[in-house]
Amino acid sequence: MFAKRNATTVVLLIILMTLSISPCLAAPRNIILMIGDGMGPDVSKAAGAYKFGPEYHAFGGQSYLVMEKLKSHLYVTTFSIEGKYDPGWNNGNKEYPKRRPTDSAAAATALATGVKTFDGAIGVDQQKKPLVNIMEIARQKGLKTGVVTTVPFCHATPASFAAHVGNRSDYNLIAGQMLFESKLDLIMGGGHPEAFKKGQEYTYLSQDDWVSLKSSSTLYKLAESREDFKALAEGAKHAKVFGLFKGGSLKYRLADGSGAAPDQPTLAEMTAGALSVLEKGNGFVLMVEGGAIDFANHANNLNQSIGETLGFDEAVATVINWIETHGGWQENLLLITADHDTGYMHNVKPGPAGTLPTVSWGTDGKWLSHTNRLVDLYYQGSGSEILEKLARELLDFERGKVKVIDNTDIFKTMFEALKAGKPSADAGAYSLRRAA
Ligand SMILES: [Zn+2]
Repeated sequence: MFAKRNATTVVLLIILMTLSISPCLAAPRNIILMIGDGMGPDVSKAAGAYKFGPEYHAFGGQSYLVMEKLKSHLYVTTFSIEGKYDPGWNNGNKEYPKRRPTDSAAAATALATGVKTFDGAIGVDQQKKPLVNIMEIARQKGLKTGVVTTVPFCHATPASFAAHVGNRSDYNLIAGQMLFESKLDLIMGGGHPEAFKKGQEYTYLSQDDWVSLKSSSTLYKLAESREDFKALAEGAKHAKVFGLFKGGSLKYRLADGSGAAPDQPTLAEMTAGALSVLEKGNGFVLMVEGGAIDFANHANNLNQSIGETLGFDEAVATVINWIETHGGWQENLLLITADHDTGYMHNVKPGPAGTLPTVSWGTDGKWLSHTNRLVDLYYQGSGSEILEKLARELLDFERGKVKVIDNTDIFKTMFEALKAGKPSADAGAYSLRRAA
């Protein structure tokens, strides 16, 4: 009798759940955007070459990085409002990608707000007017929001998902906005005052903001030690968490997995903690950045570039494992991309697995090391069809016939996916411009 009644209830529940989903579009409960800063296609190829040697798929083998195992792939154009991308590379000029590449701030603002802007802009348009970002829209829908990075928490990429400032170097201002105005549920990154020598402690957080955070006068519970981060992953007890590891950035992870500081969390550990904080609610939007891949490429440091990329890939594995036990791909949308290519790495040739491949760098010290080359987007989950509609085919000088979207289309995809979700009481009409 009870069994029969329960079965009827289950059937009714399934019917109700089906009815509540929009007939035209699947809507994810959670959206996770992962950004490898400066992780151009040859950067991940070098990581694959190191990990698998000739067995890597790019050299005819069967082995893939974790991020490459996602169901779908597109390429992405990354230029800022000051640039453009000609797929023909101006009649095959190999110097072409060095022309007016984006910086991380303009690229992250495009990803976070769908608007192309100038280099250095954090969540503002060309007139320095604040733009609504995807986290603010998610919060309107009653979702939780968070950002995680391996570099200072108020660096360009996470900042563009939380602040509105005309100059990416105004760290104190950006940090203050993130801490007191963004209403993010979770912020994780570096920039800890105790990691800097005297006189530079408050490069990122101002002294006043640090005192507020430390004395629990903000909304956030402070996590600092690696143990704090690991405890979060095992079950977060606080709704709002500020994870500030002791360091400016995480110490570089090298290709063989060594190099990381034992008292700092890994990106994968931070990501696990972030998921644990954000999963207690009605869904969330999370941005996770591997921020130091860019730094390593600027320095043409292959060992660090591969190490940081593999550390990022481990965080991807953490996310996929979490998705598999939290609603699967029907309830989650995972997007993995880069904000731009850094270092113009190319010509990757593998040695045996576990040895550094040979590569060529395009850097000659005369340009800023970012390029306009297409970057990867790996994606899977509910809402993927939005991206497929936005993609267009083109013949690229470097990549051949490929399907491409623009970085602003990643915002559009997240926006459409959120819109398709169940409306919350306070959602109303979305204001795509912030009130003054
Ligand atoms: Zn960048």
